[in-house]
Amino acid sequence: MRIFMDLWWYFKQEKWKYLIGIIFLMCSSLISMLPPYVVGVIVDAIRKRTLTPAVLGKWVVILAVAGVISYTAGFIWRQMIFGSSVRLARLLRDRLFHHFTKMSPGFFNKRRIGDLMAHSTNDILAVQDAAGEGILTLIDSISMGGMVIISMITLVSWKLTLIALIPMPFLAWATSYYASLLHKRFHKAQAAFSELNDKVQENIAGVRVIKAFGQEEAQKDMFRKQSADVVSKNIAVAKADALFDPTITFIVGMCYLLSLSFGAVFVVHGSMTIGQLTSFTLYLGQLIWPMLAFGLLFNIVERGRASYGRICKLLEIRPEIVDHKGALDFVPSGNVSFNINNLIYPKKTIPALKDIHFSLSQGQTLGVVGKTGSGKTTLLKLMLREFDCEDGDIQIGGLSIYDVKLAKLREAIGYVPQDHFLFSATIAENIAFAEPGASMKDIERVAKLANIHDDILEFEEGYDTVVGERGVTLSGGQKQRISIARALLINPEILILDDSLSAVDAHTEEAILQALKDNRDNKTTLISAHRLSAIQHADLILVLEDGQIVERGTHETLMANDNWYASMFRRQQLESLVEQGGVIYE
Ligand code: ADP
Repeated sequence: MRIFMDLWWYFKQEKWKYLIGIIFLMCSSLISMLPPYVVGVIVDAIRKRTLTPAVLGKWVVILAVAGVISYTAGFIWRQMIFGSSVRLARLLRDRLFHHFTKMSPGFFNKRRIGDLMAHSTNDILAVQDAAGEGILTLIDSISMGGMVIISMITLVSWKLTLIALIPMPFLAWATSYYASLLHKRFHKAQAAFSELNDKVQENIAGVRVIKAFGQEEAQKDMFRKQSADVVSKNIAVAKADALFDPTITFIVGMCYLLSLSFGAVFVVHGSMTIGQLTSFTLYLGQLIWPMLAFGLLFNIVERGRASYGRICKLLEIRPEIVDHKGALDFVPSGNVSFNINNLIYPKKTIPALKDIHFSLSQGQTLGVVGKTGSGKTTLLKLMLREFDCEDGDIQIGGLSIYDVKLAKLREAIGYVPQDHFLFSATIAENIAFAEPGASMKDIERVAKLANIHDDILEFEEGYDTVVGERGVTLSGGQKQRISIARALLINPEILILDDSLSAVDAHTEEAILQALKDNRDNKTTLISAHRLSAIQHADLILVLEDGQIVERGTHETLMANDNWYASMFRRQQLESLVEQGGVIYE
């Protein structure tokens, strides 16, 4: 029952709703004691031939009034108890989502999206159940069960009550056992089904690869096996279900058997009337639900507690990247300087960056190149504070990025990541993501700068074309250019293009870079690229290797030095010459 203590803060907060709900629930239980009693009285009256229309009418009116009260009470307690539990789910869901938005990318790297989704859905549902069904089953099993037993003892016979109650603990135990078994098996069946779903999704998405490698048969085999697994797990659920109902029916039957046989003896001996036995049997029927509820309660609270524990554990994780004490509340701008002595990722021993020292004047362009894994993305992401550097500092306009508020720092930066992401929304909405109120004129202006305007017009619905999961499929290059337009719309002080031109052709790349140059007066740009033509006009080019700067300078000086940069540049020129059929874009 720890979950009720754990959720005490919420029950306190909603005490009036719960109190009213519980009072009406108990009122409802109390009223339900009446019909069996009335039936017994009427049966006895019939037997004694004392039932007059007036007596019958009186009881009918009483039952009708009780019915109306019970109806109203039932409506109120459901509203109060279930309403509160749904509101608790909303509160936890909001908290969790808010918490997720505060987390740094490292948090999401360490966890599977599927698990986080499960916490936001299944776990919250289990806690909601504890705060709704849990309270209902707790109150019902205690109050309704108690009232029925008291009615049986006081209105009928304590001896018969004792006899009839013998199988009841088994009923509660069987309910608890089978409900738990059913839940576990159902969970396994669901997990198998979602795995099968993932498999189908992956197969459809990757159908080209499967066909290209001639793996259709192997995939079909794997699917057949997984499908059989889903079937066997569902049959296990059906088996548990098939055992559940007959067991309960059997135990209930035992209760009736005991009460009717012993009750009949009492009636024959004259210690009980037929009417009382009738009432008793009806009360017995009313005792079944509280006993089932008692059994269910264990499962509900157990699941609720485990789920609540998982949610709390998630909520306790503090965001790694936070505003430092006294952080300034303004958007930084000015010259950029990097002074990184050492940056080591958690669980790594070799630094990802070492001795990175350079400066850029406001408005200049930096080019970062190097082999894959040389540290280009790490260097650029440090500026965004996706993670913090303990041994080093980055300054903008002479001010450490750690001394301004995170939100303001990010306002200063437009970041186009390597793994661009478009939402399932229109192209216009995707471009205006960081500025939802942007005018169509501005959206079109940045789309032109990113060289995507003409492509967009080719779609039937133009800027209103829906993209992403539920929309049209765009090429990698189109996605990249929409991402660039998105970053340009906020007209950032510092624009970071992290290998964001890799999927566009050299000619388009050239056009975009020229447009940036012409339109970003006095604004700084940091570009990392594999294709060196993307950074050849940069004011400063850094060549990274194993996290260290191995070459630095302008294109001309690096060419003159004739090291990795120069040889790579010549090789890429040659490749481009072959691809373009003899045209070199410089
Ligand atoms: P590049 O952008 O030049 O390909 P990265 O900056 O992505 O290089 O990676 C530099 C090095 O840091 C690589 O060895 C990579 O494995 C490592 N690295 C990158 N991101 C992480 C991370 N989140 N955790 C641990 N190591 C990382």
